[in-house]
Amino acid sequence: MKVTLTGTGSPIPDANRAGPSTLVQCAGQNILIDCGRGVAMRLVAAGVPAPFISAILITHLHSDHITDLNDLVTTRWILTPEATPTVVYGPLGTQKVVDGMMAMLTPDQKYRHDHHADLRSGPGLQVEVHEVQPGDEFKIGDARVIVGRTDHRPVTPTIGFRIEAEGKSVVLAGDTVPCDELDALCKNADIYVQTVLRPDLLELVKQFVPALASRTTDILDYHSNVEDAAKTAARTGVKTLMLTHYVPAMQPGQEADWLALATPHFSGNIVLGPDLTSAES
Ligand SMILES: [Zn+2]
Ligand SMILES: [Zn+2]
Repeated sequence: MKVTLTGTGSPIPDANRAGPSTLVQCAGQNILIDCGRGVAMRLVAAGVPAPFISAILITHLHSDHITDLNDLVTTRWILTPEATPTVVYGPLGTQKVVDGMMAMLTPDQKYRHDHHADLRSGPGLQVEVHEVQPGDEFKIGDARVIVGRTDHRPVTPTIGFRIEAEGKSVVLAGDTVPCDELDALCKNADIYVQTVLRPDLLELVKQFVPALASRTTDILDYHSNVEDAAKTAARTGVKTLMLTHYVPAMQPGQEADWLALATPHFSGNIVLGPDLTSAES
């Protein structure tokens, strides 16, 4: 099982970090979790271009986690000789968002249909949406996926995924504060991927950009910080903690500072870094 951070950024644009997304490769499947800005580029860099994605799992419908879904859907269609529908699993509300996205893509579909006879004869631009809820389970090939509730309120519904294959497990928590349901999902996982922020650095942002102070304060209470993620990892017995979705963006040379916040709380393996950082189990 290989887990690659295909985007470690956040809603705040960064020159070097794509938006939130993570690639899980196991049991011959390429499973993408969330699809933030620039994900199609990072997938090429990871050696898994969009046509080779088996399924896309969406943790929640915040824009930074879904903004490039349309790019993946279109890219799969135009680069695959016999394009199959893009398979998407997401929380309740995903179908409505995809319907809107497909409406947005209507002119592009017509242009490409009109110009490319072979695209006209294919199945067309299609997305197969499965709305899932906490407690649901499904399979992607031989990989088993378990859906768990997370706590990113007032954003709701939000879900995390536990993927199990070949005797290994990885949990993709998405944006959430620590909660019992997340603990249950993480129990003894080999790898746990958590989106995090740094309240101490955001405090500095507030001082430098007072106009955004209230908005910056708002985001503190519905995300895990680095210490929270480390404590969840320790409490649930995971082997490797992967940190991503750095808010604010981790700058080169700051890795040790971020690690130092986690190591007092978790003695296992901790992985963080630039886009395309990976871990294997
Ligand atoms: Zn979010
Ligand atoms: Zn987010």
